[in-house]
This record gives sequence, structure tokens and C-alpha cells, in this order.
Amino acid sequence: MIDNAYDLTIIGAGPVGMYAAFYASLRKLNVKIIDSLPELGGQLQALYPGKFIYDIPGFPGIKAEKLVENLKKQMDTVEDNIEIVLNERVNYVRRNNIEGILEICTDKSCHYTKTVLITAGKGAFQARTLELPNEQEFYNIYYFVNDIERFKDKKVVIFGGGDSAVDWANMLNDVASSVTIVHRREKFRAHEHSVETMKNSKVNVLTNYTVDKLVGSRGEVKKVYIKSLDNEAVKELEVDDVIVLFGFLSSLGPIETWDLELESRSLLVDSNQQTNISGIYAAGDACIYPGKVKMITCGFGEAVIGINSIYGFLNPDKKNNAVFNSTLKGK
Ligand SMILES: Cc1cc2nc3c(=O)[nH]c(=O)nc-3n(C[C@H](O)[C@H](O)[C@H](O)COP(=O)(O)OP(=O)(O)OC[C@H]3O[C@@H](n4cnc5c(N)ncnc54)[C@H](O)[C@@H]3O)c2cc1C
Repeated sequence: MIDNAYDLTIIGAGPVGMYAAFYASLRKLNVKIIDSLPELGGQLQALYPGKFIYDIPGFPGIKAEKLVENLKKQMDTVEDNIEIVLNERVNYVRRNNIEGILEICTDKSCHYTKTVLITAGKGAFQARTLELPNEQEFYNIYYFVNDIERFKDKKVVIFGGGDSAVDWANMLNDVASSVTIVHRREKFRAHEHSVETMKNSKVNVLTNYTVDKLVGSRGEVKKVYIKSLDNEAVKELEVDDVIVLFGFLSSLGPIETWDLELESRSLLVDSNQQTNISGIYAAGDACIYPGKVKMITCGFGEAVIGINSIYGFLNPDKKNNAVFNSTLKGK
């Protein structure tokens, strides 16, 4: 007899898993959350703690690390403790036939649960590079920006055309001595407002250019050569630091081998966030369905849908009412 099975175990303690844990506890489910990283917060804490996020409802702008701190505080507001397990990477989930309970095994131990919500994001991630032969020789090429002050009074060249490249260009504009953004297309794949802010600032915007070569000495890039895609003309840029923001290669890793239905390497879910395996749900960047947008706010909504579906799965006789504030401490 397994008597320590949780109602719900959440795999992945990024923003979506954290919010799901809070909401599940609000619905009086006893919940455990597991992450392979040593801290809560997923991509926000690991990849861009110092970056501002501008598209969270109710926050005109909030630093990623502050949003994680707020989510932690919100997890602390529920009466029942949420069991947090860090530094454990989940290797597999399997059904325990005798008990009808799911067994989740990590690199360190096994956990028992009635249902699972997978909020594992993109799994382990790796930054895309410039793909130049001498790129690895230089220490002043950054693929993640953690500490903005590192670039104080520096000449910075950013490669990329997505949201993070444009957001960092705007943020570094006030800190660095000069910021140049190089993008291989005319149009940026970023929020229109951020692009407009950048174009109206003193950021040097160079479009239709690609990197040609890096020149430096003693492990430090000093000059970047970029080539026009219109006429092949080469331009020389003096740099103190280079930031490459081409996105990430990612893999769900072991999760891809759990017989869960996948599409574009994400977990296919229905409108209840249910995967093809009964009792296993997914939300956030880990999941996919028609129209899916990989953003924090969409993940929060999916967490609510998923937890309410799980509640209904665990309590088929109860009416699946909305949440009661009385489960919050002091209410
Ligand atoms: C540079 C950058 C800027 C961004 N800016 C914005 C923005 O401004 N606005 C916005 O809405 N979105 C933004 N995003 C996207 C946003 O970060 C993601 O949509 C969000 O992090 C998804 O949250 P999640 O909880 O689903 O997954 P994640 O944040 O990826 O968290 C997943 C967690 O699961 C854990 N995990 C994975 N596999 C396992 C396993 N097998 N066992 C245990 N743990 C596991 C990981 O360690 C991780 O902690 C940005 C992303 C990047 C990279």
C-alpha cells in the first residue's frame, strides 16, 4: 500500500509550475513540485533574471527575478504547505499497476502521485551560436545576460532580431556607452512597441546584415565584421562585448520517451490540458495545441485549466466549482 501518494506532482518549477502549485493548493489538492535546477523560476531565473518583462497583466514592467519572487510569495500564501523538491531531474513516469498510482523516478528517488502536471518548459536548453569557427576562443561573447551592470560604459554589439535582442538593446541603451543591434532581416520579430522605442532611441540599428568574422586577441573580441545581405559590403564594428541572442536549441530529454504524444517536440494536449495518458496533464512551454503561444501569461491560463481538470479527475462526484479564497492564510 502506498500511503504517501500526493494528489498532484508538478514536474518543472518555472513560472507556470509555480503558479500551478499555488492554484492547486488553493483548490485543496496536496501538491509536490520537482525541478532539476537548484532554484525555482525556470527560464526567468536561469536565463534572464535581470530582464524586464512587459507583457504580464497588471505589471507595466517587472524584472524576471521579481516575478519569480512574487510567485514564491504567492505560493507561501496558501494554508497547506507545497512540497518543493529541487536538484532532482525526473527520468521517467510510469503507472504503478497495483495501486493505480503514478510513480515518478528522478536521478535521486521515486515519488508517488495520483496525477501529474508537466510544466517542464523546453527541458534542457542550449543557446544558438554565431557558428563561426573561432567563436569559442573569446570570453567576451555572451549568450545569456544575467548582470546588466557588466556592460556599463562598454561598446556592445547585439546579434538577433527577436524580443530578447530588442528588449536588451533598449535596456542596455542607458547603461552601455554604445549599443548596436545587428539583424539579418529588415523586420524585427519583437513587440511593435519595443521595436519603436528602440528605433527612436540612440541604439544603432543595422538590418540586413550578417556576421562575417570576429577579430581579437588574448581571448577578447575587439572587432566584429558584418556583411550586408543587400550588396555584400563589409562593415567594421569596434566592440568591448558581443551579445548573441539567436534563441535556444532545446530538448524535452527523457520526457520525449514516455509514450506521450508529441508534436513539434512538445506535448500534445486537449482543451483540458490532458495528454494522451490518463492522469497526465501538461501546461506552459512544454505543451502544444492549435493556436498555442509560448508566453508566461498563456502558461498561467493553462495552469488554471489543467488544475481544474485534475480536480475534476480526482473528484468525479464533486461539482468543479471555482476557487475559494478561504483557503488563503488569514482569510
Ligand atoms: C531570453 C528570454 C526572454 C523571454 N521574455 C519573455 C517575455 O518578455 N514575456 C513572456 O511572456 N515570455 C518570455 N519568454 C518566454 C518565457 O520565459 C517562457 O514562456 C516561460 O519561461 C515558460 O514557463 P514554463 O514554466 O512553462 O517553463 P520554464 O520556465 O522553461 O521552466 C521549466 C522548468 O522545468 C524544469 N525541468 C525540465 N525538465 C525537467 C525534468 N526532467 N525534471 C525536473 N525538472 C525539469 C527546468 O529545470 C525548468 O526549471 C522569454 C524567454 C527567453 C529565453
